[in-house]
Amino acid sequence: MHKKLFIPGPTEVLPEVLEAQTKPMFGHRMKEASELGTRVIEKLKKVLGTKQNVLYWTASGSLIMEASLRNSVKKGVLNTICGAFSERWYKMAKANGLPCGKIEVEWGKAIKPEMVDAELATGKYDVLCLTHNETSTGVMNPVEEIADMVHEKYPDVFILVDAVSSLTGARIDADKFDVVLTSTQKAVALPPGLSFCTVSDRFYERAATVENRGYYTDFLLMRKYAEERKGQTPSTPALSLLNALDHQLDRILEEGVEARYKRHSEMAAKVREWAGRHFELFPEKGYESETVTVVKNTKGISVADLNSKLAEKGLAIANGYGKQLKEKTFRIAHMGDLKPEDVDEVLGAIDEALGL
Ligand SMILES: *Cc1c(COP(=O)(O)O)cnc(C)c1O
Repeated sequence: MHKKLFIPGPTEVLPEVLEAQTKPMFGHRMKEASELGTRVIEKLKKVLGTKQNVLYWTASGSLIMEASLRNSVKKGVLNTICGAFSERWYKMAKANGLPCGKIEVEWGKAIKPEMVDAELATGKYDVLCLTHNETSTGVMNPVEEIADMVHEKYPDVFILVDAVSSLTGARIDADKFDVVLTSTQKAVALPPGLSFCTVSDRFYERAATVENRGYYTDFLLMRKYAEERKGQTPSTPALSLLNALDHQLDRILEEGVEARYKRHSEMAAKVREWAGRHFELFPEKGYESETVTVVKNTKGISVADLNSKLAEKGLAIANGYGKQLKEKTFRIAHMGDLKPEDVDEVLGAIDEALGL
C-alpha cells in the first residue's frame, strides 16, 4: 500500500507530475531537448525570483554541493555545522582535499552571524558554506542575516547555500548568495534524480581561476552547454524528470510562489502547535523550520511502533536522524504539495495511535 509521505524527502509526488515522466523519448541533442532545458531554466528563474544564472544537473543535490566547493575554494572553506547535513559540507571539503575549517554548535541550535564573523576574522577563508534548513534538527538558519554581515565585512568571501529541504517551500533571497542549490525530491515535490542551483557571475569568474574543477562537476562547462547548446548539459540528462519538472514548475507558478510559502507556513504552524501541546519542539526557539518539524520525544514513545501504526493507515513520518536523534526525536515533514488538510490527517492519526 502506498504511504502518504510526511518524511523530509522523497516527498509525495502528484499523479499528474508522475505522469509527465511518461512522454515519448527524444534525443538529448535534439531541438526538443534545447526547448525543454531552456523552458525549465526560465521557469526556475521566475520561481526562485532570481536575476542570476540557473543550472540544472542530473544528480541529487549532494553533487552540486561537491561541485560548488571544487569550483570555488582556493584559500579555505569555513563550514558551519549544526546537524548531519551541514556536517556533510565539511566531510566533502575534506574528501576533496580542500583546506577547511569549521564552527560547530550543539544539534538543535542555529548558526548566528556573530559566530561566523568571529571565525572569518581569522582571514583563513575565501568560501563560506551554509545550510538553510538543517533537515536533521529542524533548524532554519538565519542565512540572509549571515550574508548581510559577510557582504559588509568580508565582501570577498563567497557564500554557498544548501537549501535542499527548503527551496520553493520557504523564502530565501537567492541573489544574496553565490550558489543556492536544491534537489527535486524535497519541497519541489518531484521524484529524486535532478538538482538545480542559482549561480552568481563572480562565481564563474572565480571558477575560471580554479584548477581541477572536474568534468561532471565543472560549472564553466555546464554554463557553456546551457548557453551554446541552448539549455543542454554536457552529458545526457534525465529527460523524463525534466519533463516532470517542466510540468511541476507550471503548477508552482500557477499556485504562486507567495501562496506556496504561505501554505508551508500554515502547515508548519499546525504541527508546531500540536507538538507544543503534546511534546516539545527540538529546535532552538525562533529558528524552527517551515518545511519539517522536529519534535522532542518527551513522552518516550516508540517512534518505530508509531510509524508501524501509521503505516496501517497509509501514512509515514520520519524517525529522528541518525544514531544521535533516532527515537529521541521524530520528524514530521510538511513540504511540497501537501496541504493543511493532510497535516490534520496525520496529526489526527498520531493522536489516535498514541491515545492523545
Ligand atoms: C536531503 C538533503 C541533502 C541531500 O540531498 P541529496 O539530494 O540526497 O543529495 C542535503 N542537504 C539537506 C539539508 C537535505 O535535506
